[in-house]
Amino acid sequence: MGLDGLYEDALANLNEAAQLRASTRSPKGKGGSGGSWTQRFRAPGANEDPAQIVLVPGEYEIVLQTGKGKPFKLQRRYGIVYRHYNATKKKYCRCTAGLAMDGKPNNYIIVPGNQPCPSCRTMEDGAAWMQIRKLHVFSIVLLDHFHLVDSDRVNDRTGEAYKEYEECQGKRCKLCKKGVKRVFGKRMYWPLGPMHAGQLGDIARKTLATKCACGGRIRPIAAQCPACGATLRDFDDEPFDTKKELAEFRSSSHTCVNDDCSYKGPFLEIPECDSCRKATPLGLFNTKLEVYMAGKGTQSVLQVSDFEPLSVKLKAKIKDAMIPFNLDKVWDFKPLDPDEQAKVMGIDNPFDNYSDDIEEDESGSSAWGNEDEPDDDGEDEGEDDDIDVDLD
Ligand SMILES: [Zn+2]
Ligand SMILES: [Zn+2]
Ligand SMILES: [Zn+2]
Ligand SMILES: [Zn+2]
Repeated sequence: MGLDGLYEDALANLNEAAQLRASTRSPKGKGGSGGSWTQRFRAPGANEDPAQIVLVPGEYEIVLQTGKGKPFKLQRRYGIVYRHYNATKKKYCRCTAGLAMDGKPNNYIIVPGNQPCPSCRTMEDGAAWMQIRKLHVFSIVLLDHFHLVDSDRVNDRTGEAYKEYEECQGKRCKLCKKGVKRVFGKRMYWPLGPMHAGQLGDIARKTLATKCACGGRIRPIAAQCPACGATLRDFDDEPFDTKKELAEFRSSSHTCVNDDCSYKGPFLEIPECDSCRKATPLGLFNTKLEVYMAGKGTQSVLQVSDFEPLSVKLKAKIKDAMIPFNLDKVWDFKPLDPDEQAKVMGIDNPFDNYSDDIEEDESGSSAWGNEDEPDDDGEDEGEDDDIDVDLD
């Protein structure tokens, strides 16, 4: 455990006690309601105004098969889904096969068979036009003024129209004049491919973590044994000459100096803030971020142009929108049964006898899985850099 362990603690403090549980695997997952595609966030381009956002932590469980043993469960604050793309018909849908470890830490692969997936089967049969890619899906709040207006979609159960967000136009806003309810903050979900997710992780580690939630500057002052608390190295007494030396110290295994302690492994890094006594490094989930996307396609780079601690005041202002999505109910990621999936993807269903009850999409969307441009974040389909960057 390095600095990340401390972030976990710091972030746990910031998390609301009543976090909604949102499973990426189980269609029966409880929690946040579904979203429509209008709730999908894309970072603005470099020639537009950057977006002000807050990332909302969820509790996502990713189940990995480990051979014949018990499945291994990863806990993440964001969801992970795999999505197929039929390049000839320009259709996409979520993969419904299982995930498995491939032996390397944090590296896992799709395995067929956990649940039937017609698109996986098509890939196994050698169809090069069928692709699959991994998406890290964050729940966010877009910080801006919006009006909640009735959409033309009606909830079958309640008979009421679903609400849609419409951006407030400020001084000349017609909706303001009509007295339509105005809210601050729009609840959205943000899918990122491995490349952009990795960039976001780098920003968190190298930039956000040097600032404290109080606004002060943070630096590590000592390495501690996570088991007994003994100081392994005091960075003031024994400073590092080069960044490389520090990186080597961080990545190697350490034996505890305390004779009564048998701990061997990574050390715990103790941060100190220059302006408060409780150093709380900023991370992805306790910070207000200003983001945009520079460049296009595989060349694009996710940019955080500004950031500041998420204040208690702002958090209170957007609390109604700070609800993580249940990805199983999100329009883009709803798991389909093989028959539905085959229809959506324009392929044959090899699992004819399979049937299962899939819950209704809460957003009431019927058009599904058909899009000319499925590239949520400008990355190419079928990217091979598939390592899970732990962004927590
Ligand atoms: Zn699949
Ligand atoms: Zn308005
Ligand atoms: Zn120890
Ligand atoms: Zn501080």
